[in-house]
Amino acid sequence: MHTSTVFPDQIQTLVTVINLVRTGQATTRPELGQISGLGRSVVAQRVEQAIHLGLLQNGELGPSTGGRSPRQLSFTADRARFVAIEFGVLHVGIAVLDLDLNPRMQSVQEWDIASGPDSSLEFVASIVEGLLAEEPVRPVWGVGVGVPGPVEFSTGRPTAPPIMPGWDGFDIRRWFESRFGAPTFVDNDVNLMAIGEFEALEVDHASDQLFVKVGSGIGAGVISGGNVHRGSNGAAGDVGHIAITDRSDIVCRCGQIGCLEAVAGGWALAREGAIAAAEGRSDYLADALETHGEIRPTDIAQGARAGDAVCAALISRSGRTVGEMLATLVNVLNPASVAVGGSIAEAGDLFLSVVRETVYRRSLPLATRDLRIVPSRMGHGAGVLGAGRLVAERVFRPESMTSWLPLTSPRRAFWAVYGSRAS
Ligand SMILES: [Zn+2]
Repeated sequence: MHTSTVFPDQIQTLVTVINLVRTGQATTRPELGQISGLGRSVVAQRVEQAIHLGLLQNGELGPSTGGRSPRQLSFTADRARFVAIEFGVLHVGIAVLDLDLNPRMQSVQEWDIASGPDSSLEFVASIVEGLLAEEPVRPVWGVGVGVPGPVEFSTGRPTAPPIMPGWDGFDIRRWFESRFGAPTFVDNDVNLMAIGEFEALEVDHASDQLFVKVGSGIGAGVISGGNVHRGSNGAAGDVGHIAITDRSDIVCRCGQIGCLEAVAGGWALAREGAIAAAEGRSDYLADALETHGEIRPTDIAQGARAGDAVCAALISRSGRTVGEMLATLVNVLNPASVAVGGSIAEAGDLFLSVVRETVYRRSLPLATRDLRIVPSRMGHGAGVLGAGRLVAERVFRPESMTSWLPLTSPRRAFWAVYGSRAS
């Protein structure tokens, strides 16, 4: 038997065998046979092929179930690396992950996304290369990138992002693909946080969930039937610029008037907090202004926690406004749970209790009967984990494996299409 060649009629069963072991559903050859319904000799052949490809490995002898003890099988997560990158407005999180998404190297750096794509991507790529150089050489099999703005998912390009000057239409995907020679996927940061958050919660993978980030800006990630609902162009869930008032004095940083973000987002609260500090209405904020030279969204959140009345009023107003928007989404989408994250949501119980009260009061009884509204558990790590999960899902989905397995790796398959360099 020649294990080095994978014939077309063997691909489907090879994908099945690899993915059953990779996802932990089967750990021995007999289990693979039982779950997949494949015959013993087909299972044995596919396992040998997967071992030859470096994707599965033999382990210890497992517990006997009567006859000879079956040898354990495991997925070779160390075979290659995924790179996960999440740009915030003022920071970037980077992780080098194994194929099971265990972080091997991580870094969080301060970085201003307004520096534009060329310097931002060069900065991140040099950090990634530094991290990759810290361990024995492993090929990069995929890159996931999150950015704080709307992204056309099919092309990996930000589209008219309000707070990313210079990034409009920039081909982030092609930039990483030519730098790292591996398939790259780009998404909105909140979509990736939603993926990461619900991955960490280990909720039912076919369920409907909502993740809302209330930080400097506001955004939502919609999980529908276990998958991110991106809409036709990638704009779904971008709730920060929904019009909630026609007051002409409420100007948003996107240029419109009356956006949700301009009333309830962290930057809007900080702007009002700065006025309160200047007018002597809040000792807490006056101190913060003197210490930092400005009022930041986190100052409002911490002030509310510390009992400052001005900060508490701003946080409550934000919670009520976000709650009204969420009540609409809950009626439209009927999610099983809503997770709320971001620096304003981290103000503590006050924000979440106002959001809860508003959603339960303003949504349909059937939509809230089993609804859970919970604080984000992942915090800042959700976006990076989500970027890794996005890449793994794309690389290991059966239709993708079907195309790269005959060429032995996603990287070789990528170069067979896009270039001549391969490893
Ligand atoms: Zn706006």
